[in-house]
Amino acid sequence: MPDTVATLAELAAFPTISADSNEALIRHAAARITAAGGRIHTLAGAKPGKFNMLASFGPATGAGIVLSGHSDVVPVTGQNWQTDPFTLTERDGKLHARGASDMKGFLAAMLTAAQRCDAAKLTRPLHLIFSYDEEIGCIGVRDLLERLRAEHFQAQGCIIGEPTEQRVITGHKGKIAGCVCCRGRAAHSANPALGCNAIMLAGEMLHEMRDLQAELTKGRRDDAYPFPFTSLHAGTIKGGVALNVVPDYCEIEFEIRHIAGEDTSALLRRLGAAGERLGAASNGGTVEVRVTNDYPGVETPRGAAITQIALAAAHTEETGKIGFGTEAGLFTQALGMETVICGPGSIDRAHKADEYVTRDELAACDSFLDRVIATLY
Ligand SMILES: [Zn+2]
Repeated sequence: MPDTVATLAELAAFPTISADSNEALIRHAAARITAAGGRIHTLAGAKPGKFNMLASFGPATGAGIVLSGHSDVVPVTGQNWQTDPFTLTERDGKLHARGASDMKGFLAAMLTAAQRCDAAKLTRPLHLIFSYDEEIGCIGVRDLLERLRAEHFQAQGCIIGEPTEQRVITGHKGKIAGCVCCRGRAAHSANPALGCNAIMLAGEMLHEMRDLQAELTKGRRDDAYPFPFTSLHAGTIKGGVALNVVPDYCEIEFEIRHIAGEDTSALLRRLGAAGERLGAASNGGTVEVRVTNDYPGVETPRGAAITQIALAAAHTEETGKIGFGTEAGLFTQALGMETVICGPGSIDRAHKADEYVTRDELAACDSFLDRVIATLY
């Protein structure tokens, strides 16, 4: 029988950093799936060398279960690894490699679970999805979901195996990333009245953002999160060329992490209106608020079939919420598919040097997936 640790070693050896191709990994997984009797549906991404893959086992009905994971990993640049990040290395029961927790451990468990299942006896299908470019804003899977929506793809639900220490996660916040672009007019600083100071405009926008955050902390609340409100934060600010020049451009990158039910378009309209007002009141400046990336949050009911299946398979009655984002909300948004998040390893070890997953965690995930798949016979 295929071994999950050995499979993880194979997958970890493909350096599928989001900036690079994932084609070799997808080909490798596709060959194993085909050999196990699965049907492959590969979809080339918008960028060369990038692929999504859907693999299906069992009959073609709409009542199957989807297991999904991203094939890309974050870079290792500047990190002080004890061993080669693309060679799975065991030390003290810990299996170290880039992606061990996030999330090639789950991809390996997905592959071996599919190979262990008796595809001929499935009465409902098992689907596996491998996506790309998750780590740079859940970009890649959108093409595949769009295609599946057009093809009226249906399933009972989806499990995304991001590292949750095998806890069954039914919710996380959604995210909007954006840019506040403040344009002014350059002038000699000796006569600032001839110009319009873009940095000062940006400062006024920061003021507006601070007030909006203060309001949000009096609004909608979800105590399942450590920060139980929608948050609005400025992450970077860039502007100015020299001290004696009135700056003509300044840019703030901001992020909104919103809880379920928050009216994010109203929030963006508020920011946009503040920008228009401040621009109009300035000496010829403008402020534009632009969204650069977003993904929806997740709020899957406890009573959803997939939640119940995952809870039973994980031998627990407890659901939870997490502080990081996943592709889950995109599945629900595009396909109306109820999605939970449950996988081996821990997000606390992800994106760092010496990332790892343990043998025990992989074994627990193997059993979890066997019990999920058992519901399809
Ligand atoms: Zn991940």
